[in-house]
Amino acid sequence: MATLSAITPIEYLKGVGPQKADVLKKELQVFTIGDLLEYYPFRYIDRTQFNKIKDLHPDLIGAQVLGRLTGLQEVGEKRAKRLVGQFKDETGILELVWFQSIAWLKKSLKVGSVYIAYGKPNEFKGQLSITHPEMDLYNAQEKRIGNLTMQPVYSSTEKLKKFNLDSKGIQRLQETALETIYRTLQETLPPYILEQQQLMSYQKAMLSIHFPEHINDLNAAIKRLKFEELFFIQMRLLRNKQLNTLKYKGHRFGQVGDRFNTFFNEQLPFPLTNAQKRVIREIRSDTNTGAQMNRLVQGDVGSGKTVVALMSMLLAIDNGYQACMMAPTEILAQQHFAGISDLLGTGLCNVKLLTGSTSTKDRRIIHKELEEGSLDILIGTHALIEDKVQFKNIGFVVIDEQHRFGVEQRAKLWRKNVIPPHMLVMTATPIPRTLAMTLYGDLDISVIDELPAGRKPIKTVHFFENQRLRVFGFMRDEISKGRQVYVVYPLIKESEKMDLLYLEAGLENLQKEFPLPQYHISIVHGKMSVKDKDFEMQRFVKGETQIMVATTVIEVGVNVPNASVMIIENSERFGLSQLHQLRGRVGRGAEQSYCILMSGNKLSKEGKTRLQTMVRTSDGFEIAEVDLQLRGPGDISGTQQSGVLDMKIANLATDQALLAQARELVIKIFKEDPHLTLEKNQLLLTQINQQTPGISWDKIS
Ligand code: ADP
Ligand code: MG
Repeated sequence: MATLSAITPIEYLKGVGPQKADVLKKELQVFTIGDLLEYYPFRYIDRTQFNKIKDLHPDLIGAQVLGRLTGLQEVGEKRAKRLVGQFKDETGILELVWFQSIAWLKKSLKVGSVYIAYGKPNEFKGQLSITHPEMDLYNAQEKRIGNLTMQPVYSSTEKLKKFNLDSKGIQRLQETALETIYRTLQETLPPYILEQQQLMSYQKAMLSIHFPEHINDLNAAIKRLKFEELFFIQMRLLRNKQLNTLKYKGHRFGQVGDRFNTFFNEQLPFPLTNAQKRVIREIRSDTNTGAQMNRLVQGDVGSGKTVVALMSMLLAIDNGYQACMMAPTEILAQQHFAGISDLLGTGLCNVKLLTGSTSTKDRRIIHKELEEGSLDILIGTHALIEDKVQFKNIGFVVIDEQHRFGVEQRAKLWRKNVIPPHMLVMTATPIPRTLAMTLYGDLDISVIDELPAGRKPIKTVHFFENQRLRVFGFMRDEISKGRQVYVVYPLIKESEKMDLLYLEAGLENLQKEFPLPQYHISIVHGKMSVKDKDFEMQRFVKGETQIMVATTVIEVGVNVPNASVMIIENSERFGLSQLHQLRGRVGRGAEQSYCILMSGNKLSKEGKTRLQTMVRTSDGFEIAEVDLQLRGPGDISGTQQSGVLDMKIANLATDQALLAQARELVIKIFKEDPHLTLEKNQLLLTQINQQTPGISWDKIS
């Protein structure tokens, strides 16, 4: 038989038949022997450290107890059915509880045997317990693979366990895999990088990650593998960026013309902030290079992204191009249209709005003007992407709220001209640097990190349900001063019916407290028709209603400067970035604004941290950082569909320093050797060509 290697299908590994291969593929996406080796332990049991039962307390995150299982009973019925074990060491007794896999556990756990139990201690009425502990049979005489003091633990599933692939089973496979292909494992990083970064060799790292002999070995292996993963992700991203610059010519905006200048000198009602000026300068210099611009502008709510977008579009028009701006919702598109028309005044350029509800007649006019070239700026929703929308010569595209649009939609806009237009992507969801470097690593990033002068910071407070009367009183005060109030309810798909009931009950309550004819209330939620929503929204915008009861449809971008109070009901149910977005709806005028977070008395630890963070700070980047720490990178809004975050070992929440190091190195390498032609970088060239077949590096250079 030919030599086995990392790319050999997993079924050829000794001990893996077709059935095991099948379940490994389905459950773990392990297709080759190499895939198996990259299925790393998720933690290690330190065989030298045990907790005594008498020392356990509920504040411990995890505990490892060596003891004897002295009893095992099934108790309770139906949903309360559980398996309870008694676990003893020389210092006390501990209860072990399982709610799932009871039948299987009853068969496999042996009363009278000594185990290592691992899990989080709880305390209930003075009784210590661990729910769903991991159980590991302890046998002092048992020959351990490699005699490890750090025992790896692999996560497994019910199905895998049926094929004897519990953590131990997987470990045995890893041993076979390493024995079989160890010699064929190739180094992936050139010697000069290993040396500079002080990294362990690939071979040694693969061995140590699965069979660490010492904690220092293990740490070195983890560092090496994390670095490698982050390094190649950055390598791919930055190479793509470089390829785009080489491949796509860009429209050259060589001059600043009449419209830009007239707007700046005669129309602009406020001085630009330094941050706005800086970003406009960055855009101007990008669009004058002859390459296509792909730039992300991150700026907190209210930082004034719209005017930056508008001035960029004017620059395009001055150079003979058309521009468009796409927003994720109809309300937002309308607001952009209204806001931009307002800023521009009449006569400077021809601006139109295109959404799903634009009439056929208006649509025809728009299509015609676009093709003739007499329409300068088109603002709209997804409707802009449709094939029927053809520009005479589009040169600049603005996408607001990036994370709602996919890469595919971005690409469609690219194709609206022979030479793709410059792309400016704006997001009001600040994301931590590490995440930005990875998610948008192939874009240039600008940050508007300054709010327009004169804004008063929003006062944020957290109130419990029993303080509601005070809240009503406060609302009355603010309304009597001529202000307007938002009251926002969660509306989540899974609990939609209940949520709508809450909202209705809340609305009824408000209608009693704030009766007609003195008070008027708008209501907007996702279940209403676009027309009704718009009508209600407009009443609030015009000031005909004082209170706006809404679900999160108002989250993004809506701008009513006179609204000074944001009340968020059940605020503990919102994510941090959502809370931050909602709060950004107020504080847009000159008045002192307030955000009131309402919640029930019972708060989870995480919920409490979220609300405390909101009260403590209004810095979007700081909030995003806390969010990343709380939830991990996979759950941050907008990152779910993004493949780049499927990491095998690195973690963007905890490996920020390593990521920065890796990216810095990649930038340095490309600067010194843009086409990777130097001898010392040949290994890298081979690696990235292997990782991204399809594109051939050589063709470009
Ligand atoms: P966002 O970045 O959230 O999209 P907007 O562009 O909607 O913010 O701007 C928020 C408000 O601030 C708007 O009313 C806008 O006219 C105003 N604004 C923008 N830039 C400035 C500035 N430099 N000085 C004063 N007000 C500004
Ligand atoms: Mg905006």
